[in-house]
Amino acid sequence: MGDFLSVSELVAATGGIANSLDSGLLGRSPHGIVTDTRGLHGGEVFLALRGEHFDGHDFVETALTKGAIAAIVENSWTGGDPQWPTIAVNDTLEAYQAIAREWRDRFSIPVVGVTGSVGKTTTKELIAAVLAACSGAQVLKTERNYNNEIGVPQTLLQLQATHQYAVIEMAMRASGEIALLTQIARPTIAVITNVGTAHIERLGSEAAIARAKCELLEHLRPDGIAILNHDNARLLDTAAQVWCGRTVTYGLDGGDVRGELLDPQTLLVNGRRIPLPLPGRHNALNTLAAFTVAQVLGANLEALEKGIAVELPEGRSRRYEIGDDIAILDESYNAGVESMGAALELLAQTPGRRKIAVLGTMKELGERSAQFHERVGQIARQVQLDALFIFAEATEAQAMAAGAIGLPLVEILDPDAADAHDHLARRVREFAQPGDRILFKASHAMRLDLAIAQLTATQ
Ligand code: ATP
Ligand code: MG
Repeated sequence: MGDFLSVSELVAATGGIANSLDSGLLGRSPHGIVTDTRGLHGGEVFLALRGEHFDGHDFVETALTKGAIAAIVENSWTGGDPQWPTIAVNDTLEAYQAIAREWRDRFSIPVVGVTGSVGKTTTKELIAAVLAACSGAQVLKTERNYNNEIGVPQTLLQLQATHQYAVIEMAMRASGEIALLTQIARPTIAVITNVGTAHIERLGSEAAIARAKCELLEHLRPDGIAILNHDNARLLDTAAQVWCGRTVTYGLDGGDVRGELLDPQTLLVNGRRIPLPLPGRHNALNTLAAFTVAQVLGANLEALEKGIAVELPEGRSRRYEIGDDIAILDESYNAGVESMGAALELLAQTPGRRKIAVLGTMKELGERSAQFHERVGQIARQVQLDALFIFAEATEAQAMAAGAIGLPLVEILDPDAADAHDHLARRVREFAQPGDRILFKASHAMRLDLAIAQLTATQ
């Protein structure tokens, strides 16, 4: 196997038309596929993607002068020079996906696909860390959150002969997307962390979300293995409708691989005591998913008893001290009802004096948005917060406040006001006292990270 597919194999994989590619070039293997000219080192093939804010076709000339050996362009594009070495295709995104699928098919290693309403990135990181720890293997994994129709091919194109496993995060906003990603990545193991309410605005109902997640099983190869969260009844029911192949469930309430939390930091599973790499019951479940993958793959699980380390991308499970024993728990990357619940429970269990939450809008919840915000307010009350700061638009803020009635302090801050984030940071700073634990969580669009940045900068 060369370092990569040859140019003629790219032509075949994409069903494209070769222009100005001589036989020497057709036989060459580029160093890879690049979609951003800033990533060019020379010797790659440039693929022109059309995005919301850019059109890769505008950069074809730059790419060729910077050393790309050919470009993949859409045949509707008229801006090029007939002398340029190109492969013309109907749709460059589809071509990108076809190339990734072709490349992935050259590897016979286990490929783990991970989807679910929440916990995908965390579980992906845990699976990769567990497999690396148990086998010393090189594991390819989705970087950051590159989990969509562009990110999945991009990840697969990084596969090298040295990799022994690949762990691919797959996200969706609408039905049909997981089916597509599954056909590209062709996982041998399918992990579904849970089904909930994220993206309900587009999908309409929890049942539709469950079906969309289970496209991973519908399109799983017959010899694939499904690894499912036993504690999520809707997931198991929906999975059973579309998948009759091998299934291994994990859970804290039951399942084939059943874990027990001996204390908040220690998981007991199959007779092994495993220190939890990340805090919280939800992360115990995510760790169990990773354990189950490793067990199914026959890895040596002993290494897990020594503990494994994972570092999640920004805005998830981060903790910052801002002086005087005041800690910020940064979960500001995203939020939905399930993850708000998980984070609030974790806050409640975190040792400290007062438990305070700064909760913002959860986006994309459609017509039931107010109801879901009220539910989060109720959870805040159930876990007996000492104070709740709500950083949300009027309707959502009122709903959350209504759910939280009875807490010692519920304060609404307007996210649309001038200097809203400065104001939020100042308010939290003046309220905070030694021993406080302060959770920040909202949809990313609320940019709670800006307030956190101020708090951590001015300590
Ligand atoms: P995205 O859709 O943005 O890719 P994701 O599914 O990758 O999200 P993570 O980034 O792993 O999810 O986690 C997001 C948040 O969800 C975390 O900050 C945590 O609070 C919460 N969370 C993680 N795992 C679970 C779980 N199993 N159950 C409930 N909440 C969870
Ligand atoms: Mg993610």
